[in-house]
Amino acid sequence: MPDSSPLSQMDPSEDGVYAIYSLCYGRVETRRVHDNFMIRDMHDGPMPLDYNVWIVRNAHRTVLVDTGFSQRAAAERSRPIDFNPIEVLPRLGIKPDAIDDVIITHLHYDHAGNMDKFAKARFHIQDAEMAFATGRCMCEAHIRVPFDVEDVVTLVRHTYAGRVCFHDGDEDLLPGISLHALPGHSGAVQAARVMTPRGPVLLASDSTHYYSNFLRRAPFVLTVDAPATMRSYSRIMKLGGSTDRIIPGHDPKVRRLYRSFSVDGLELLALHEVPKPHSVEDLIRFDY
Ligand SMILES: [Zn+2]
Ligand SMILES: [Zn+2]
Repeated sequence: MPDSSPLSQMDPSEDGVYAIYSLCYGRVETRRVHDNFMIRDMHDGPMPLDYNVWIVRNAHRTVLVDTGFSQRAAAERSRPIDFNPIEVLPRLGIKPDAIDDVIITHLHYDHAGNMDKFAKARFHIQDAEMAFATGRCMCEAHIRVPFDVEDVVTLVRHTYAGRVCFHDGDEDLLPGISLHALPGHSGAVQAARVMTPRGPVLLASDSTHYYSNFLRRAPFVLTVDAPATMRSYSRIMKLGGSTDRIIPGHDPKVRRLYRSFSVDGLELLALHEVPKPHSVEDLIRFDY
C-alpha cells in the first residue's frame, strides 16, 4: 500500500477512483513527413515523440501502465533517454517491488522493457499481443523491428512463473480500471480506462500515438493492420467520450494541456485533473 510517497497527499481515498500521473523519460526529434504517418503528405516539420509511463494511484494501490525501456535498449537503438523510468520510481516514494499490477499496453520495446525489475508484480497483457510477439509474424524483419526479444523472453519467463494475466478483448481489471483491446498498431494494444475524480480517462497508449492520428484518422507509420486501426480510432472516441479524456501514447501536446509539477527533480503531469481549454484544431495543428 502506498503511504510514504510524496504523491500520497493527492491520492483519492475512495477505492475505484484514481490519480493518474504521466512520467516522461525521454524524447526523440522525429519529423512529420519521414517518421510519423503511414501516408506521407506534402508538408514537413518537427513532430517530436515523447516516451512515457503512467502511474495510477489511490490510497489502496499503485498500478503501473507500461514499463518504458532501459539504457541498454536506448543504446542499441540510438534513442537516448533521460533516465530509466523504473529506476527513478523510488524518488517518487514508489517501490517497484511493492507494485502488484503492471498493465503492459503492448510489447513494443518502448513500453515493455524493465519487466525484470519487479519482484512480485503480475503483468497484464492481451492474448493477441503475446501471440503476435511470439508467433510467425516475428519471422518478418520489418514487423519485429519494434520488439526486443529480451523483453518478450522476460514475459515468457514471467508466464512460466505464474505472474502473467492474459486478457481477451475488453475486461474489468480492478475497481475503476478496465482494459480495452485496440488492434491495428500491433497484435493488440490494450488501453486502460481509469476512473478519476473528473470521470473516466482513457490511457490510449499507442492505439493513437498523437491526437492527430485518431482525430484525422491518419495512422501512425507503424501499422500492421490499417482497417483494424481505423476501427480502433472509432472505439477510442467512444471509450473516451471527448478529447479531454483521451491520452495519446506519445504526443508532446499532452504536456501543454495538463498541469505539471516536480517531485525530487522529476516532472509529472496530473492527468486526473481537467486539462486547459483547447479545441480539436489545437490538437491536430502541427505546431510542435
Ligand atoms: Zn507501439
Ligand atoms: Zn510507443
